[in-house]
Amino acid sequence: MKGSIFIVSAPSGAGKTTLCRRLTEVVPRIVHSISYTTRQARKGEVDGKDYFFVDEDRFMRMVGAGEFLEWAEVHGNLYGTSRVKLFEMIQGGIDVILDIDTQGAAQIRQKGIDATFIFIMPPSLETLKERLMSRKTDSEQVILLRLKKAREEIDDYRLYDYVIVNERLEVALNELGAVILSGRLHISRIDHEWVKKTFGLDASGSRF
Ligand code: 5GP
Repeated sequence: MKGSIFIVSAPSGAGKTTLCRRLTEVVPRIVHSISYTTRQARKGEVDGKDYFFVDEDRFMRMVGAGEFLEWAEVHGNLYGTSRVKLFEMIQGGIDVILDIDTQGAAQIRQKGIDATFIFIMPPSLETLKERLMSRKTDSEQVILLRLKKAREEIDDYRLYDYVIVNERLEVALNELGAVILSGRLHISRIDHEWVKKTFGLDASGSRF
């Protein structure tokens, strides 16, 4: 059985990174896709774990070679998802979370790729601002830019299949887990051959 793709988008400061990180602790058999980016590594970030940090030349060569399933410019930096790496995992039966922005999510939708689209919203713009300020990783100018971009991104929520409002981390985490687990149990992912073999049924026996 192939793995599934879960696209998770949120404006920065909505708590998406923490949520996605915690998710892999509560939901088994799911991994994070590691994006390529031209952004500088933040303190504590590790190359090959948080991102593959590359320069713009290398990134644009990868774009030219068609290596990205999607890519976008976010806050002045380039980010992209490697096509080969993602499909290797899916073919290997592993579920993958793509933590990407709304432009990237829209590209994946347009390509008709089978994926579940989940949008994480902050409870308010004030909360978002407070969270961004408390991170102390960005300058005030960057925070203002991120707030402006946040409103634009929230406007794209209709593109998604599920919306989770992250007011309390534990609640949002349960909700995200529920979306992913219900996706796994969907009839489209059932191994009909297994049902046939296990219960001795043949396809002609269906009443529907
Ligand atoms: P940050 O720099 O804070 O880690 O991420 C900034 C934004 O870039 C986030 O909204 C994140 O979801 C997005 N992002 C990270 N990786 C990718 C990617 O591969 N493609 C796209 N389109 N966006 C990404």
